Amino acid sequence: MTSLTAILLLTLRMQSADLVLHNGKVITVDSADRIAQAIAIRGQKIIAVGSDADVLKLAGKTTRRVDLKGRAVTPGLIDAHIHFAPSGVERYTRLDVGYAAAKSVADIVHLVGARARETAAGGWIIGTGWDEGKLAEKRYVTAADLDAVAGDQPVALVHTTGHYLVANSAALRIAGITRDTPDPQAGTIDRLPDGEPSGVLKESAMDLVNRHWPALTAADRERAIARFAKELNAEGMTAVKDPGIDGDDWAAYRAVRARNELPLRVFVLWSSGKTAQAARDLIASRASMSRPYASTGDDRLISGGVKVFMDGSGGARTAWMWQPWNRNTTEVDGTNTGYPAANPDTLRALIRMYHDAGMHVSVHSIGDRAIDWTVGSFEAALAAKPTRGLRHGIIHANIPTDSAIATMARLERDYDAAYPEPSASFTWYIGDVYAPNFGARAKRLNPFATFLKNGIHWANGSDYSVTPFPARYGIWAAIARETLLGAPGDPFGRDESVDVRAALRAVTIWAAHQIFLEKKIGSIEVGKYADLAVWDRDPYTVSTAELKEMKCELTVFNGKVVFEAP
Ligand SMILES: [Zn+2]
Repeated sequence: MTSLTAILLLTLRMQSADLVLHNGKVITVDSADRIAQAIAIRGQKIIAVGSDADVLKLAGKTTRRVDLKGRAVTPGLIDAHIHFAPSGVERYTRLDVGYAAAKSVADIVHLVGARARETAAGGWIIGTGWDEGKLAEKRYVTAADLDAVAGDQPVALVHTTGHYLVANSAALRIAGITRDTPDPQAGTIDRLPDGEPSGVLKESAMDLVNRHWPALTAADRERAIARFAKELNAEGMTAVKDPGIDGDDWAAYRAVRARNELPLRVFVLWSSGKTAQAARDLIASRASMSRPYASTGDDRLISGGVKVFMDGSGGARTAWMWQPWNRNTTEVDGTNTGYPAANPDTLRALIRMYHDAGMHVSVHSIGDRAIDWTVGSFEAALAAKPTRGLRHGIIHANIPTDSAIATMARLERDYDAAYPEPSASFTWYIGDVYAPNFGARAKRLNPFATFLKNGIHWANGSDYSVTPFPARYGIWAAIARETLLGAPGDPFGRDESVDVRAALRAVTIWAAHQIFLEKKIGSIEVGKYADLAVWDRDPYTVSTAELKEMKCELTVFNGKVVFEAP
């Protein structure tokens, strides 16, 4: 062999792919939405996308070849708003009283009774996932319901939105809540007609109970993160934005990543306190490590910014609205317009402080008035200190006014900021409680078509554990706009539906933008990380109903196969 031939062979071997997927329909989600047949991957990256003839040239002796047999490939799906670490640990440690497990108050009582019998005397029973909109009785679970089976065991069941819970009498006693306890600031102790607490505690009132819960261990958190990551991989998901974490969550992420047990890209937002002092402390401890453009390192675990709460929930009717909430669609909920999560001027000042510190901020804003205040706060901060590219987000952005939409469009264009980070599956999974609460306003909830008309891109998230985490539900819900139980009267309508191409972009390239990785993931293009998913059907050609049932058959993360359907 001449030395020239040796060099050529060496070069060829160096260039051969580790993995080639061919004979498929590759939905690249690139700028032209091109469809290809095949992908070649070497190391962590995509090295070729194109026809079988071109891409297969890169397959060598050691290359693994996957014949897709015509199946569709998409970029790995991204969840732009999932409480991954905290809800992951709840997933494996708490009693599940969600819709799949309990369809009535009676079912929930039965589950709590069974758990009470296997819990040590005085030990807490903590559950999660109930929603009165889906329960046969269509009412809150109460302390009295739980007392009947739990006796002296303290019980707390968190609502699926995470914005309220029900505690039994033993738990209320531990928390020191009586008929004389006033509502805390930005919280509600729900009361029965006779003035006694019903057991339902909303927003900040939940803290009276949850501060007595036993602490989770680091091992609980780490085990849950590694296990939950695999469940996401099995749904073709390869990246998440985890909003509102604390130092324990971060330590757990770092430990799992260090052991190479984190097959997901994780972008976190730190949980903001509600005071200027809390913001100063967070900026002092986290601002220098939260530079999403500069400090991405291996692009696997990113300290991305801060999460602020502007208001509450559309389920609890605590979100901050211009007009009073409805009940049962047509009734008016007295003068209740919800409330901000703290003094609105303080919240505006916090956003300004984080912005001035160069941090990316996403703000939970459900009600129309909360969204107006949030985008107004972004506008004020950007006017005072013009900074392009911090990509501040409006989490949920459920029911924006026309003026808020116009401001979003302007701030995106001028500053690359003010992007909606909604949850399409709200209209589905909590739609049966949302629709009666929003009343006629429900028609413009999640106004995706209007966003598109105004040139606004959004990043979709499940808000798990508020709705189920598989991203395929978010794709489907953005088109279907149907409630879980099929609420009568078509409350959300179809005027704000978008097509599957937009719905897919909201969980791929547009979501990648809100974790500052759109140049590295979110589409299938040469040079990007090989994060992708193979599906049992083609999302671009199946019926809307079938999108909800898509099955992932193979997931590649960072160039490695991390899931294969059995
Ligand atoms: Zn959330």
